[in-house]
Amino acid sequence: MESELKAPIRVRFAPSPTGYPHLGNIRTALFNWLFARHHKGKFILRIEDTDVARRVEGAVETILDSLLWLGLEWDEGPYLQSQRLHLYLDVSTRLLEEGHAYTCYCSPERLETMRQEQIKRKQPPGYDGHCRHLTQGEKTRLEKSGIAPVVRFKTPLAGETSFHDLIRGQITFKNITLSDFILLKSDGYPTYHLANIVDDHLMNISHVLRADEWLSSTPLHALLYQALDWQPPQFAHLPMILGPDKSKLSKRHGATTLTEYREQGYLPEAMVNFLALLGWSLDDKTELLSRDQLVEHFSLERIGKSGAIFNRTKLEWMNGVYLRRLGAAEFAQRATPFLDRDLPSSARRPLDLAYVRQVTSLLQERSRTLAEIPQLADFFFLDAIDYDAGLLLGKEMNAESAANALQAAVTELGRARTWDASSLEGILRPLAATLNLSTRNFFGLLRAATTGRTAAPPLFQTMAVLGQQKCLQRLAAALQKLPAVQQ
Ligand code: GLU
Repeated sequence: MESELKAPIRVRFAPSPTGYPHLGNIRTALFNWLFARHHKGKFILRIEDTDVARRVEGAVETILDSLLWLGLEWDEGPYLQSQRLHLYLDVSTRLLEEGHAYTCYCSPERLETMRQEQIKRKQPPGYDGHCRHLTQGEKTRLEKSGIAPVVRFKTPLAGETSFHDLIRGQITFKNITLSDFILLKSDGYPTYHLANIVDDHLMNISHVLRADEWLSSTPLHALLYQALDWQPPQFAHLPMILGPDKSKLSKRHGATTLTEYREQGYLPEAMVNFLALLGWSLDDKTELLSRDQLVEHFSLERIGKSGAIFNRTKLEWMNGVYLRRLGAAEFAQRATPFLDRDLPSSARRPLDLAYVRQVTSLLQERSRTLAEIPQLADFFFLDAIDYDAGLLLGKEMNAESAANALQAAVTELGRARTWDASSLEGILRPLAATLNLSTRNFFGLLRAATTGRTAAPPLFQTMAVLGQQKCLQRLAAALQKLPAVQQ
């Protein structure tokens, strides 16, 4: 099918600023962007902000920010529908004049009564066409009484409306199931249907790639294109994103907005790779694809029809892969804002970037998200560490032997002239033997004393980064703690 595509390819991402973009929105943006880049077409950004009551403060900024963060730069826009109201009004007027639309004066109360009746009679919901047949005289009277009408489309009462979907094939709706939907609201703002097709037409959109949930709107759009004698774009409805329990992805399944993933320390390059595989695949095995590879291979043919399951474990794994692929300096740079944000306030700021780099080089292999780093690394940045004295004693050790061992370590390490991982190893391994302790016990004691935890990056490297002074202080502090240990 794509081989038949005619240039120019123009696609759009058309979010409504009614909230922060969630993964589904962003997946739609990404597929449009990949499609445009693959075909050397244009990716247009349009903000569908005509639902004034549902606008959310800051949503537009967050949408732009999310796209930029992922590197989905747009070629045109952002166009704001709220600044184009005259265009929709013109088309609405044309549809009225040509007999494809009519003004409706029904009050909210009447519509509500109608809805209740429909429920009672088990009829499909939808406007009953009450105002469709008003005479000119009745309209004038209603208008004089001060009622601001809405404009409704005259949906054919019989027959069918079909359109071709590039992913799902031919789709047909019975017109009887489509009601006379609103085009223009009484405040002069267009509805989604009107503004969306007017803009797709005026912006020469060649393909509409959007989420499955819009499928039921498409017959309405097809009817509008017919009425206006406009060539419709091609449609491709993207499969829904599902949670692991196969229900629609929602808050219940964890974080849903892209911003949350960013804050949780996911890399944009991992998000792009991960989102691309929510509904599209290269083959049945390839998981890791760079942005360039995605652009090269993206095609509508490989988008599935059935829902795409969101797998958080896979995202974490993928993020870890991308984290390990970063150069050490880059990794440090990306980790710094997270350290700044999440290290305890007692950590000295501004952070010493050279030191950050030494610390993060020990963590790059073992972190899955950037947000994990501050808690893996906090002991590197604090003057004093707090831990339970019980951590100091491994098996086969009591407070006395631990005190001996610590004392010996303080003495030997105090004499050290060089302080790097291999010289520390050169001092501490023989010392374990001299003390007649297993390295497991002795190093466990030193790890607890210098980091306050039982699991940390390799001991000698950790101590090397902490530095001689800090290590000696912490060993001395551990000695002070020992008497408090319950045997
Ligand atoms: N404004 C709609 C949305 O929020 C656009 C749907 C479409 O792409 O037609 O997703």
